[in-house]
Amino acid sequence: MPLSAFRSIEELPGAAHPAVFRVRFECECGEEHDGLLTHDDLDWAPLGLGACEFVNLMTSRHEPVAAEFADLAAARIKVGEWPWSFFCFPEERPRPVFPSSFALLTAADATVGLAVRCPDCRRLSVNLVTRAHVDVPFHNDREIGVVEHMFPADALATIDEFQAELWSASFDARRLALE
Ligand SMILES: [Zn+2]
Ligand SMILES: [Zn+2]
Repeated sequence: MPLSAFRSIEELPGAAHPAVFRVRFECECGEEHDGLLTHDDLDWAPLGLGACEFVNLMTSRHEPVAAEFADLAAARIKVGEWPWSFFCFPEERPRPVFPSSFALLTAADATVGLAVRCPDCRRLSVNLVTRAHVDVPFHNDREIGVVEHMFPADALATIDEFQAELWSASFDARRLALE
């Protein structure tokens, strides 16, 4: 399931090892369902690290693959390429992020509205990005839309509030190059 099908992601209190998230997603059947994902499922599975084996065509054997993906992802992160990023409006700067920091998502055609809780300053920002920005790890839009508004911590409590805010807001373009 692509991340852009997710509608809300909320960390459940109490479960710390591993952290567990309640995820609401838009299903192919047209309805929304809730599911539970661990931190690893949410942040690492989209990088291919959830796939634990593949069929080696040379030997016809199942072989573990996660380590190779992990090495590849780690190598890219080390040179400053991030699987996901967003623009933190309160800090006025782009930041790297993982899906567990996405609070609310809504999608229309090729565009995704994304409310992100900054892993650094903990404040909310609302960005407008392409589906690929969310669904394809290491694809970062060069320029994204940013709602120029400071959201209080308890703002956007529901997906309905978020959508109303999003589609009535005006956006400003920001460059997403991470230095
Ligand atoms: Zn369904
Ligand atoms: Zn921030």
